[in-house]
Order: sequence, then C-alpha cells, then structure tokens
Amino acid sequence: MIFYSTRTKDLKASLEEAVFRSLPPDNGLYMPDHIPQLSNDFLSTIEERSFKEIAVEVAYTLLSDDISRDSIQQIIDIAYDFESPVVQITPDDYVLELFHGPSMAFKDFGARFMAALMSYFLLRSKKEIKILVATSGDTGGAVAQGFFKVPGISVTILYPSGKVSEIQEKQLTTLGHNVTALEVNGTFDDCQRLVKEAFLDNELTSKFNLASANSINIARLIPQSFYFFSAYAQLKKLGKPLVFSVPSGNFGNLSAGLLAYRMGLPVQQFLASTNLNNSVPRYLKNGTFDPLPSIETISNAMDVGNPSNFVRLIRFFNDDWNLVNEKISGYFFDDEQTQKIMREVYGNTNYVLCPHTAVAYGGLQQYRIENDLDFTGVFLSTAHPAKFIDLVEDTLGKTVEVPERLKSLLSIEKVATKMEPSFSAFKSLLLSDLN
Ligand SMILES: *Cc1c(COP(=O)(O)O)cnc(C)c1O
Repeated sequence: MIFYSTRTKDLKASLEEAVFRSLPPDNGLYMPDHIPQLSNDFLSTIEERSFKEIAVEVAYTLLSDDISRDSIQQIIDIAYDFESPVVQITPDDYVLELFHGPSMAFKDFGARFMAALMSYFLLRSKKEIKILVATSGDTGGAVAQGFFKVPGISVTILYPSGKVSEIQEKQLTTLGHNVTALEVNGTFDDCQRLVKEAFLDNELTSKFNLASANSINIARLIPQSFYFFSAYAQLKKLGKPLVFSVPSGNFGNLSAGLLAYRMGLPVQQFLASTNLNNSVPRYLKNGTFDPLPSIETISNAMDVGNPSNFVRLIRFFNDDWNLVNEKISGYFFDDEQTQKIMREVYGNTNYVLCPHTAVAYGGLQQYRIENDLDFTGVFLSTAHPAKFIDLVEDTLGKTVEVPERLKSLLSIEKVATKMEPSFSAFKSLLLSDLN
C-alpha cells in the first residue's frame, strides 16, 4: 500500500515510513493511495468468521504489498486477545462494546495493532525506537498497554499532574519495564509542547530514534475498521440495513468506519455524534468548517474543538460536501442531555453507558425520530463506564461495579518521575536514559 499526503498528492510514503513518521513532512495526513475492495466471497460468508479471521482478511486486503499473510496473522494474534461483541438493548438497537481490551477503551484496538506492526518492522531492521506521548488521559493508557514489553521499543509518557483520573493515572504509572511515566507539573498543552520540542531537538534526534504514537497514525486508523466489519458479521442475519452512530472527538473512529465502507462494507448511514464540541455536525448542516476552541464536557475524551481527522473524513468523499452530507448525519448533545440518556437507558434496560457512549445513543435515537426507516442501529461504546465511575455513579444514583482489571490497578503503587514543564528538564531526563 502506498500512502499520499492530504496536502500534497505527490508526496508518497510506504507503509513503514508512514507508520514511523506518523505525519508527512508537509503536515498533512497519510491516506491510502487507492482503496482495495474486499471480495464478495468474504462478505457473503463473513458471519462464519471470528474477529481475528475478519481482521486478518481486512488487513491483508490493505497491506498485502508490504507484509505476508503469515506475518499479518502473527501481528493480529499478538495484538488481539479481546473482541468486539454486540449487545442488544432494544428490539432494533445494539451497542458495539469496544472496551474489552487492556485499558478498557476502544483505543486499545488501534494501539495494540500499531505496537505489533512497529515491532514487526523493527525486528527486521534491528533498530530500536523511543516513543514519546503526551496524554490527557485515555490515549496514554492504551499506548502504555499496547507497547508494554514490546521488543525494541521504549515508551515515555507525559501526563499533566492532577488532571487525569485515578484509574487513568494508574494505567500509566504501574506497568514499569519499557514504560516510563513523567508527571508534569503543568497542563496537557505543556506535555504536548515538550514532546513537539523533543522532535525538533538535534541532540535528541541524533541520539535516539524518536517516534510518536499519535492518534492520527495510519497504523491506528486501519485496525479500527476491523470492528465495523465484525459488527456487520454479528448482525447480518437480521437482514436489515445498518446505521452506525460513532461518538466522536478527533474523528479517527468515524474515519475508520468510512474506510470499511469504502472497502465494501454495506452501511446505510453513519452518524457523527458529538458533545458541544460540534464543529463536524455544524459543517454537515451548513457546509462550512469553522473549528472553535475546545469546551470542557463530561464526555471529556471527545473535547476536541478542531478535529485532526476532519481532512481525512471529507477526503473519503473527494472533499465534496454534498456527498459527505448524504452519508453522514450529525448530532450533538450537551451534558444535561447526555446524563438524561444515561438515566433513561439504565432505567429501561439496566445497561450502564459511559458518557461518550450515551452521546452515541442520543444520535441514534434522534436519527430514528427523523427517519421513518426500518434498520438495525449500532452505537459504538468507546469506554467501560467504570473508567468514569464518579460521574456515572452521580448520574445514576447507584454504585457501579468495577471490573477486576481496573480494581486490581488501584492497589498497585504508582511510579512516576515528577517534572517541571521546562524543555531542559525533559531533555536531561531523556538523556539520562530512564529506560
Ligand atoms: C478517544 C475517545 C473518543 C473519540 O474518538 P475519536 O476517534 O477521537 O473520534 C470517544 N470516546 C472515548 C472513550 C475515547 O477515549
């Protein structure tokens, strides 16, 4: 597969280059040069296949120029010891649970695949790399778990002190081995700035092979298409068209759904469901993209005012607003509406939604009201509700069960190096070679 930059059609990269660079030098985003189709044979028998079998076929269809089928099978085997089940919550509505991975959020699907793919390339080139990540919460956990003990890779995670939840902090700071946590006495923006500066520093870049695990890395996008196919495989027997509601922030998840659609997955409609950071629903409505500074909400993993994947999203439709608008409908909800949805669903079905998932369900309900159509609705659950336990318990007025995987973390001692938000402090820590 050849990738091109969304800013310069002629700026191409191989898979390996795109994965290790993350971003093209012109600061565009990598997109597949062409989108291969899945065979009719595969789609007509998909319901007989497991999650891993689907993942191997989809990945091989995209990456067969770069990696052998056996190696793709190995990468998938290493990456996925968890799946994406659908659970029925009303006669026609299903939740696609994407929180069964190690960090209990959907970002595990992307992070685990990216780690296994990078490791595959590094074993062949005998190189070692150092990954730097700034996190405001969820990404760090998925990346830390994804790269934990992966040969040839060390990971340094910067997080803002006191600004991530206790569970999120434990997910970053209790692994050890090749994962180092830096607790920055500052904000998420400070963490991001320090990482950016490191990539521009000659001394650091000549000493280490630095890489980023950015959410716009193509190696995180590709695997997120697997579970759209898996949902189809699980629901195909119902014989109705599918509508997917995707709770969105940076729009990587929805872009992956579009990739699946372009590869041949039958989808009637995608719903871009957001909180008050609604630049994409507003674009869908009036045709202009007018990003605003981000607003804090209870679905905080979606607090993105200027989503980086927007250019990818519209590129799947040749940047034609009419075409985008035909396939994607936008909905947005404030915190009060989100909490009302959480209470309603719990009251009617006993199913507990995290706030992000509630936004997705809100979009689906609204689409049903506006369209008198017979379809199967699928809304993506991007995190386990226990990751946001205080908010969920306050909203529902009941205690929420914490899965063993999260509970056991709380009793492990955190290990983090405290750091002032200055580049010289960061640089000397990196040079003293923490890991
Ligand atoms: C990252 C995240 C999202 C947003 O996904 P995008 O791909 O950035 O649109 C939604 N929910 C949760 C829980 C997340 O961690």
